Amino acid sequence: MFLRTQKKISFFCNVKRILIIEDEAGISTFLKEGLEEEGFETDIANNGNTGLQKAQSGKFDLILMDWMLPGLNGVEVTADLRKTDPTTPIIFLTAKDTVQDTILGLRSGANDYLKKPFSFEELLERINVHFRKPKPEPVIFQHGPMVINHAKREAKWKDSVVTLTQKEYDLLLFLLKNKNHICTRKEILQKVWDIHFEYSSGVIDVYINALRKKFPFEKTDNFIETIRGIGYIIKDKEHESGI
Ligand code: CA
Repeated sequence: MFLRTQKKISFFCNVKRILIIEDEAGISTFLKEGLEEEGFETDIANNGNTGLQKAQSGKFDLILMDWMLPGLNGVEVTADLRKTDPTTPIIFLTAKDTVQDTILGLRSGANDYLKKPFSFEELLERINVHFRKPKPEPVIFQHGPMVINHAKREAKWKDSVVTLTQKEYDLLLFLLKNKNHICTRKEILQKVWDIHFEYSSGVIDVYINALRKKFPFEKTDNFIETIRGIGYIIKDKEHESGI
């Protein structure tokens, strides 16, 4: 079974390799077998120093790191590795009473941690989070006859291009990205104007009014709606009753 798994893996060039740095043989073998059955390639280091050497080889796509290890401990390995490798994901596997230390480990550059005992399914889920490609952001935002093509930073109303200032565009895009959610005036100031202090936010109303003039929606079309004293929202008709 084990040999068959190894052979199968060698046919695929995009197999992800996981380094297991763990001194308890029972745990490392359990992880190795489980991960190889899931199609990963693995290697084990049973102390911190060997773990660091192997990690520094750059051959691994992810590292499972125990905290208490002979030689360098998990936090020390992580801190050392991060000097030359800022990106390879590191997941700490840690006993309950070392959780506080593990949090220090996260500060030293680990990406995640799991408390022992953990379920293999949960570990697998955490591992896959790191290998999943981020979803591409949408580039087309539509609301009725208005279409924003963010790849071109272009706004259209019924097939005609509408010229927007940079801030008008940014504000409209922010409201569309958060469609069906209220955007507070504070959030708008922070995200669109990069203003993080108390500020008279009358400027937002000026831009909202400009957008309302440039896109001649009917009143019933739910373009930019004012939520008095709070902020603004663009919502789909089906969300009308919900907010
Ligand atoms: Ca240990």
